[in-house]
Amino acid sequence: MIPVTTFAGKTVAVFGLGGSGITTARALLAGGAAVAAWDDGDAGRAAAEKAGIPLVDLATADWSQFSALVLAPGVPLTHPEPHWTVTKAHEAKIEIIGDIELFCRERNAHCPDAPFIAITGTNGKSTTTSLIAHILRNAGMDTQMGGNIGVPILALEPPAKDRFYVIEMSSFQIDLTPSLNPTVGVLLNITPDHIDRHGTVENYAAIKYRLIVASALKVCGMQAILHFAPQSKPQFESLIAGNVGLVGNSAGTNIYAHSGLLHKNEDPTPICDLTDVPTLRGAHNSENASAAFAALDGILDDAPIAQHVRTYPGLAHRMEEIGRIGSVFFINDSKATNADSTEKALLSFPQNVYWILGGKPKEGGIEPLRPYLPGIAKAYLIGAATEEFAKTLDGHVPYERCGTLDAAVAAAARDSAIPSPRPIRGEGEGEGRPVAPSSLAAAPHPNPLPIEGDGERERIILLSPACASYDQFKSFEHRGDTFRTLVTALPGFTPRGKA
Ligand code: ADP
Repeated sequence: MIPVTTFAGKTVAVFGLGGSGITTARALLAGGAAVAAWDDGDAGRAAAEKAGIPLVDLATADWSQFSALVLAPGVPLTHPEPHWTVTKAHEAKIEIIGDIELFCRERNAHCPDAPFIAITGTNGKSTTTSLIAHILRNAGMDTQMGGNIGVPILALEPPAKDRFYVIEMSSFQIDLTPSLNPTVGVLLNITPDHIDRHGTVENYAAIKYRLIVASALKVCGMQAILHFAPQSKPQFESLIAGNVGLVGNSAGTNIYAHSGLLHKNEDPTPICDLTDVPTLRGAHNSENASAAFAALDGILDDAPIAQHVRTYPGLAHRMEEIGRIGSVFFINDSKATNADSTEKALLSFPQNVYWILGGKPKEGGIEPLRPYLPGIAKAYLIGAATEEFAKTLDGHVPYERCGTLDAAVAAAARDSAIPSPRPIRGEGEGEGRPVAPSSLAAAPHPNPLPIEGDGERERIILLSPACASYDQFKSFEHRGDTFRTLVTALPGFTPRGKA
């Protein structure tokens, strides 16, 4: 734990006692502050009580005694409307901050040189954060990873010289961190998201950009530089003028990706080959790996970075290869809760896909995925989205209404076990029509699956639901774990990495 000493002798209000709140309160107490903790929910208050954290009803408390309000990132700061504690803090004229702000102040006070790599972006945060931490750890560095991934930042070891902090940050966390000044700031990409909490896409983009504004080394995805950040563009003029690669940094390094090969600046010799790295399939993961190279530029040489990138174990539920039965591979992409994310999987597995999808649908459904339908051998629908998705698939792809995940896994395993030409009209419930092979389906696969010997074409059973899980599961993790349990029990299943 990192004791927060910068509020010693003062009283701090802490609101939101799920996730990071309890750790924050503990860290403040350990550093000598008094804490008044509160949560609207019984569960949060009970957890605090159990942890010996003083509870004070902030609705009736005297706010003049507080030096600051530490807010959990899930609590609305501005939109759709400020939470009542925010209004009270404004009235009492005290600052409103988050736990990462407490870390920044602690680092500034005690060890400003402790290397701090902060990562944000609409997508790819967790992958890039865990990849950078994996590289540093394997290069023998003292590495602490947390923030919006794994453990709350204040649960990590205290700042020390040569101790690397690799911290994932959401826009909500950045909004609560006015002193954010990482050694390396990584902004992967920006697409409209969380508008309900930030009001406009411009506001959302401006908050994301704050992560790199005060960073010593700025790392930025091209797409993020070119869009959505009018007020920050001047800072990246040199990157833009230099015809940036997929990812550029403010030290003048650009990383280009081409079919899974990463190149640095103009050098024709690749610095890293991702084509046989199963945990980093797809162009989106090339962006994440490029960001890792650009972030560690000047910290490690390219060769060790590349070596460790290639051993990245991947994260569960993100195009995670669970194992196979012969040449049928099982991929758990349960984290894909919208069409954008599922698109990444369908781009990475362009043909012979037995696709399990559905759940609680998002606006727009799977309409944006129409261009990828030629690569689908058959679709298996589950959950509340069934009828809506059936309409999109009808006439293009054979499909089956399975209802539940266990029925879908059984049906996909049954169908994929018999290699056959793509089913056409009348098979399954959908009225599939023969579709001309698309350029997508014909494209060379950048990350071929490792088929051993039997000469059969590989087939993919892909859980990539393009939906939230809440209609049938507690979370996307619960859905992915259920998928894993179901496929592991299939006869003949071999987990990944086993002969
Ligand atoms: P986050 O932590 O930002 O939610 P993850 O690394 O957990 O991101 O990846 C979640 C999903 O986002 C992946 O399953 C994939 O569909 C998509 N994704 C990952 N990296 C990128 C990227 N660089 N660009 C666009 N989409 C991505």
